[in-house]
Amino acid sequence: MRIFVTNDDGIDADGLAMLREVMREFGEVIVIAPDNERSAVGHSITLGHPICFRRVIRGGELFGYAVSGTPADCVKLGFCEILKEPVDLLVSGINRGSNLGINAFYSGTVAAALEGTVFKVPSMAISADSYEDVSFPDVGRIMRAILPEILECRKETGWNFLNINIPNLPPEKLVGVRPAQMNCSGFEENFQRHVDPRGNRVYWITGGLTPLEETEGDDTLLIRQGYVTVAPMKLDLTDHEVLKKLNTLDFSPKTRK
Ligand code: MN
Repeated sequence: MRIFVTNDDGIDADGLAMLREVMREFGEVIVIAPDNERSAVGHSITLGHPICFRRVIRGGELFGYAVSGTPADCVKLGFCEILKEPVDLLVSGINRGSNLGINAFYSGTVAAALEGTVFKVPSMAISADSYEDVSFPDVGRIMRAILPEILECRKETGWNFLNINIPNLPPEKLVGVRPAQMNCSGFEENFQRHVDPRGNRVYWITGGLTPLEETEGDDTLLIRQGYVTVAPMKLDLTDHEVLKKLNTLDFSPKTRK
């Protein structure tokens, strides 16, 4: 198996090195990642200036390719220009910080995996539920334990895109692994207001951590209960029910007298 590994925390991130190490136990790994941190850039791509890439050598061997662009740029450039042969799987992460609920939309980690599905490659985003004190060796151990089953079940379930979040717990404290739905209730939104040295008001986003509501099966709830959450997602944002109803209506231009 050939595996495309990327992230949004950048080529030097500890989570990327751990992901590379773990995925090498499953196949041949090619790392193509942003040259520095591009968290929360969502699915943005670079149009206003050119991008380039360089080879990154570590310990005398090729570690990967660093791209001067966003996570989605990395995936596009990877598939179109850097990779010499097709890959069987794309994995994005291990992100420092969870990507639960609607945060999936802001996440560069999730966007990179979604971009993988644009290229028709089964893709996973993997995030650790902590910013400051992530134990990547523990996350790596959890991944080694759960990935064989997750990869195996693709035959049965046909998943194309999984958003996986891992609680920041030692593997022995983990409660289990649960399929989850994306909590779409939104988050409490907050800004902190400051005044800059020139007297202008400036704002820092400080919200986005507390979901407004939770129901059984939500990724935000399950992770707090100590589960790894596996949320299957799709590229297609179409509301098929509404589309069906819209198709029963007549939208042809009405001529008025
Ligand atoms: Mn990140």
